[in-house]
Amino acid sequence: MSDYDFDLFVIGAGSGGVRASRVASAHGAKVAVAEEHRVGGTCVIRGCVPKKLLIYGAHFAEDLKDARRFGWNVPDCDFEWTTLRDNVLADVDRLEGLYRNTLDNHKVELIAERATVTGPHSVKLAGGREISAKYILVATGAWPVVPDVEGAEHGITSNEVFHLDECPGRIVIVGGGYIANEFAGIFHQFGSHVTMVNRGGTLLRGYDESVRDRLLQISMTKGINFRFNAHMEKVEKNEDGTLCVRFKDGDPVPADVVLFATGRRPHTDGLGLEAAGVELDDKGAIKVDEYSRTSCDSIYAVGDVTDRLQLTPVAIREGHAFADTLFGNNPRTVDYGCVPSAVFSHPPLAGVGMTEAQARNTLGTVKIYTSDFRPMKNVLAGREERALYKMVVDATTDRVVGLHMIGPDAPEILQAAAVAVKAGLTKQDFDDTVALHPSMAEELVLLK
Ligand code: NDP
Repeated sequence: MSDYDFDLFVIGAGSGGVRASRVASAHGAKVAVAEEHRVGGTCVIRGCVPKKLLIYGAHFAEDLKDARRFGWNVPDCDFEWTTLRDNVLADVDRLEGLYRNTLDNHKVELIAERATVTGPHSVKLAGGREISAKYILVATGAWPVVPDVEGAEHGITSNEVFHLDECPGRIVIVGGGYIANEFAGIFHQFGSHVTMVNRGGTLLRGYDESVRDRLLQISMTKGINFRFNAHMEKVEKNEDGTLCVRFKDGDPVPADVVLFATGRRPHTDGLGLEAAGVELDDKGAIKVDEYSRTSCDSIYAVGDVTDRLQLTPVAIREGHAFADTLFGNNPRTVDYGCVPSAVFSHPPLAGVGMTEAQARNTLGTVKIYTSDFRPMKNVLAGREERALYKMVVDATTDRVVGLHMIGPDAPEILQAAAVAVKAGLTKQDFDDTVALHPSMAEELVLLK
């Protein structure tokens, strides 16, 4: 008999926590997971999943218009936000149910309470119960950061955006990262007047410059407004409930909704980690080693709370590797090389490996291949929008070290191509592969 109530106590039933719980349990561990909000975490409840469904909904705006060029007699259509919102939220409920079933089927005890750490082997539930565990896994994710601006409380974050009562006529989106660009595309397609406010001069830092520039150009052509190098002064609420965003310089922007998409901070506040000697970095992220172990031997952490790569599939891998290592007698680490990622902007973009700038800074000679083309569907639809694919090649070895794309279905195409980049294939390997015609993806094997 174990001296502890559980072999593993997990705090947070998001992507990383649920994977770790069920794998550890399958390895024979007695597991409990505490969740103070809803099972599924950011990705399922207020992130990737509902966002992607809104993206699908937003696509119909252009698809319905384009359909006319393809012979369909499409009448003028109205968009009803509440129908989409309610259907999306119902699907989120369905998925939460599946996550709960997964835990149940794996005999993981789900505790719907906030848990805080009280020592290396102990946690306390909000209701007062104390529990002991041989190991504790912190998988509490991250939480939106709102800048310290007067009137910021009048704005919302990605936590609230899925629940809006109505589609805003005018929305100001603060930030220029993933969430800002994705929701700019979504609300623009729904007919909102969108203004993006960026403190710097660039969008989507970290992505390849050519691809970022193409997104900016397409977004501006579509009619999204941009305020770069903007210093927000305050958000004012008018008597009629509308908002006004004021800047240190430049005209104020009226809005119905202000969405802050200014990054997410590891969710460690008030978790009691100091009681067990768990060290945090200066951003509040839990410091871990390659096996996700913290500075306290019995406490581990996975996912966004460690701020390694804030991506769902990474958290899932970290959770799985953790459970295999501790309970499956199979020590495993996660390989962070060549992790593909995408921004579901409109159009979407995706990338894997080094950007051109990174390659030029780290490798000797670099060869760049690009294809700048108008997808055939856009041609017939009369859309000027062009796709851009860029391949970054180490000229010494001919190895493809980076692939960056913007255009329809870019994330779908890049996922497959990322296998080749991860496997270290060369430009010649791509050239040796016969094109699949007609497709957009064939551009990848026809780059000159
Ligand atoms: P990002 O880190 O992508 O972008 C944050 C943006 O906010 C940047 O433009 C940043 O500007 C700006 N910013 C930061 N602080 C301030 C401030 N105080 N005032 C004004 N602007 C500020 O964060 P997101 O919130 O968009 O997303 C959080 C994370 O969630 C992402 O990093 C990503 O890992 C994940 N995510 C992934 C998605 C996907 O895979 N498709 C989708 C959505 C989220 P600057 O560049 O100057 O720092």
